[in-house]
Amino acid sequence: MSKNDIMRPFINLAEVVKTYEGNGKVYSALKGVTLSISEGEYVGIVGRSGSGKTTLLNMLTGIDKPTSGEISAAGRVLNSLTEDQLAVWRGRKVGIVFQFFQLLPTLTILENVMLPMDFCGVIPPKQRKERAVKLLEKVGIAEHANKLPAALSGGEQQRAAIARALSNDPPIIAADEPTGNLDSKTAEMVFAIFDNLSQEGKTILIISHDKDISRRVQRTITITDGIISGDISYGREVMQNVQPQS
Ligand code: ADP
Ligand code: MG
Repeated sequence: MSKNDIMRPFINLAEVVKTYEGNGKVYSALKGVTLSISEGEYVGIVGRSGSGKTTLLNMLTGIDKPTSGEISAAGRVLNSLTEDQLAVWRGRKVGIVFQFFQLLPTLTILENVMLPMDFCGVIPPKQRKERAVKLLEKVGIAEHANKLPAALSGGEQQRAAIARALSNDPPIIAADEPTGNLDSKTAEMVFAIFDNLSQEGKTILIISHDKDISRRVQRTITITDGIISGDISYGREVMQNVQPQS
């Protein structure tokens, strides 16, 4: 790791621009976003549909590359990584949760949770099953471990997806409208899991349409037409969670 990397905040975007081209048109989804997030912060990302929230999350999880600008996260400058290096970095550093769960339908819940461990290779093979069971216990659905995803309710599937996101114990959890497909009671249960993960020191980024999101996170970032139009922190112990990077 270079000195530059150590000096950077845990997640840093500098003048990030993302344009999409199609039908002869160029569309700017992000128009120069500069943003720093500290380790352990609990961040909500809000904004209207089409404002650029998913694009932003895809940039800082390395799912997609910016058209220009620099992104660093968890000790690496993402721009400088090859696709293979990026895949390794993402597997270890980021757990991603989607609105529609994206569990593999032909694998059991347990197998879904073990899959990223098999890909990433950080957790020793002999520990993988036990770890997956523990993660399913943590999100309260261990009794469904041997069922296929289709046999579970939406809320249970999302809890399985959170267990999967935690499989390699990544420091960053990124969720794109994780409760967008759930009723309010189930959504509350899912949010409570994120609250607990925040208490454990994970850096959490949640895109949400839920108006209540601002009440539970430490910081709310608002995106409007590809720019940050609001960024409010609520203070709670944000700095105390920051660990010196080595
Ligand atoms: P949000 O998540 O806030 O609803 P997105 O980040 O998905 O917004 O999209 C921002 C804008 O970029 C939208 O206008 C969307 O249509 C456009 N966009 C997103 N992805 C693509 C793509 N792959 N190709 C072309 N345009 C896209
Ligand atoms: Mg979106």
